[in-house]
Amino acid sequence: MADASTSFGPSRRHMLAGLLAMPALAATAGASTAQTSRTQWTPQQVQAALKDATGTKLVLLGTAAGPVPGRTREMTSHVMLSNGSAYVLDCGMGVTNQFARTGIPFSALKSIFITHHHADHNIEYGPLLIVAWIQGLPLDVRAFGPPPLKQMTEDFMRAYKQTVDFWAEDFHMKPLTSVNVQEISAAGPVTEDDNVRVSAILAEHPPVTPALAYRFDFKDRAIAFSGDTAPLDAIAKMAAGADILVHETMYVPAMEAFARAQVAAGRPVQFDSFMAHMKASHTPSEDVGRIAQEAGVKTLVLSHLTPAIDGIDDDTWRAPVAKYFKGEIIVGKDLMVV
Ligand SMILES: [Zn+2]
Ligand SMILES: [Zn+2]
Repeated sequence: MADASTSFGPSRRHMLAGLLAMPALAATAGASTAQTSRTQWTPQQVQAALKDATGTKLVLLGTAAGPVPGRTREMTSHVMLSNGSAYVLDCGMGVTNQFARTGIPFSALKSIFITHHHADHNIEYGPLLIVAWIQGLPLDVRAFGPPPLKQMTEDFMRAYKQTVDFWAEDFHMKPLTSVNVQEISAAGPVTEDDNVRVSAILAEHPPVTPALAYRFDFKDRAIAFSGDTAPLDAIAKMAAGADILVHETMYVPAMEAFARAQVAAGRPVQFDSFMAHMKASHTPSEDVGRIAQEAGVKTLVLSHLTPAIDGIDDDTWRAPVAKYFKGEIIVGKDLMVV
């Protein structure tokens, strides 16, 4: 695995640099409000949808793949709301603001789940804890995810102890000093409470290990998440019969076009090795459809969209998936309620 990252090193770094240029291009191309509404709901829409909701709801907080700031979609995060309790899955940059925009009180936040330790899934985990604490986060909040989540949490709390103490004294609040963390390294049951039974399996997302996929069995609804993964039959098995499968989705033609443009521009990028890396760790659209069909889920939500550029419309995202999946297909948008 070290070999793989070394051999891909220069071109992957270069690709990341190239991807960093994408938001600027997208912003220039898509300044209209129509462009914006293609990628996100407004806070008013999400709050209205949750207000009228009966039963468990999923809100997509961020639907973009990768640690790229400045796009119209935020990095990956979700919240599930069931019976007044909120469960966050992944903490990409933007999770705290997006959670606030849903109107769900931070006092409802019961547990946080992390799929894997890539920045687009965990970078705002610590800040969410601290800001939510000021806003009423219960001190018995729990966190679940791959190792070294315990150490990461302890290190973060140590780094921000002074900050927490200032506020605790100022606002006469009980300080958030630690978080009850459960590390997950293997497939199996994760946790259970009055609302939900949570389980996980190991996804395939080299070189990151372990990377998790989760299933949440609420009383009225089952929601499964692929996390970041190459196409995997185990995801179909895990999601079998679920109401909703949220699956990462890579639109290969757009990734290839991007890689070719880099090569054409004379950048030191190897097309084949870059695409091989992407295909080894992410799932092309067609496979997403095949997996959802095999799982027999009612609704498939395309998310963690790769590449998360505004120029790809919903029909383009949907078409290759629909060749294989015959249920409902939703192209994820930030703050969308499912
Ligand atoms: Zn990711
Ligand atoms: Zn990842």
